[in-house]
Amino acid sequence: MTKRGLIQGELGGLLERGLSRRAFLAFCGAMTALLALPPRYVPRVAAAVSGAPKIPLIWLRGSGCGGDGEALLRTTGPGAVSLLLESLSVDYLEILMASAGEAASDLRAATIAAAPNGYLAVIEGAISNADDGYRHTVGGRPFRDVAREVSAGASGVIAVGSCAFDGGLAAAGGGSIGAGGVGEVVAGRPFISLPGCPVNAANLAATIVHFLTFGELPPADGRGRPLFAYGSLIHNQCERRPHFEFGEFVEDWGDEGAQKGWCLYKMGCKGPEAYANCPTVRYDEGASWPIGSGQVCIACTMPGFWDSMGPAFRRLPPLAPFLPWLTADVAGQVIVGGTAGLAVAHGTASIVRAGVRRRRAARARLAEEAPETAPVAPPVAEPEAPPVVAPTEPAPEGTPVEFEPETAELEPPAEPELEAPEPVPPPDSEDA
Ligand code: SF4
Repeated sequence: MTKRGLIQGELGGLLERGLSRRAFLAFCGAMTALLALPPRYVPRVAAAVSGAPKIPLIWLRGSGCGGDGEALLRTTGPGAVSLLLESLSVDYLEILMASAGEAASDLRAATIAAAPNGYLAVIEGAISNADDGYRHTVGGRPFRDVAREVSAGASGVIAVGSCAFDGGLAAAGGGSIGAGGVGEVVAGRPFISLPGCPVNAANLAATIVHFLTFGELPPADGRGRPLFAYGSLIHNQCERRPHFEFGEFVEDWGDEGAQKGWCLYKMGCKGPEAYANCPTVRYDEGASWPIGSGQVCIACTMPGFWDSMGPAFRRLPPLAPFLPWLTADVAGQVIVGGTAGLAVAHGTASIVRAGVRRRRAARARLAEEAPETAPVAPPVAEPEAPPVVAPTEPAPEGTPVEFEPETAELEPPAEPELEAPEPVPPPDSEDA
């Protein structure tokens, strides 16, 4: 069967319910890209989404505004919601259920009992811990216990929204209900957290698509946030970043810079401190996002953002007042660069040490093997000792020195050629 035929065949159920093949493949392509998977994974994602058995889904709502469930249900078009509602069996979602009270609690218990192979649990809102959890009850039971019970049998637990991440607004300034994150009640089960106020429905859809495709939740950072969605700084993806580089800032709401879409840093934007994919995924089927609509980023995906990132419209103080250019981003780059340098130095030293060890081992091996295998060298002739000259008695003073005939090979000095003296004429007799 061709790839096209495979997708078409498994799409049957979805197509019968009015979804166009084009919309379905567009969704699968978008999910594949969002998960940072290569394009060749699109058929696999399509097969998983359309052909997976309907996995039960239980959606709980803790202490919060309920905005995450609303964000999911209010998306438009044939995007995340419709396809996920087709792919999953949403058995418990309070804002959609007709049943209430005991009937709803019975339905939840029945869903857990009827899914021996597990189900997905999505929890929004904070966990209330004060007064042994009785500040927030569901059916007379602490919500904390219900969340713990549902999580215990789940194949995967997804905390959605900032309140489910670490207590959110309910924990701001200390709070009054002992608010904490959903991670506190999930023990030993696959868990992931999607902070944001509210959660981006596209990230939730991608997380579920990853679970359907690979049977596990996507890789996450140390706080349980998936790297595909929370691995990059908002500031580095922001469409207003060129204005930041050129020093073009909004100085007041409604000024010329605001109308021209300049950078919102001076208005308190926390984009340089926040990690999320809002600039690329955006909200409402990609329509816009806070900074795109002229609002500052409030870093709602960061731990304790109500306290640590506030006030919303004031710039964060620099890390070091005497180094105003030292932002968290720059500090992080310095730390990463320093770590990389240390790693290189460590690697170089390791290579040198390994070389020294190898040479030592080779010398030791040669020393062990030498008596058996080394060729016998020919005897080396002893150099002849020079003749020993017996010391002679010094000759008494005045004794003529006699030369040895062999060594006295000096040429005899040439006879000096003397010119004959001119004859002196005899004295003149007359003169005499
Ligand atoms: S608007 Fe915010 S996130 Fe965007 S470039 Fe300016 S400071 Fe960075």
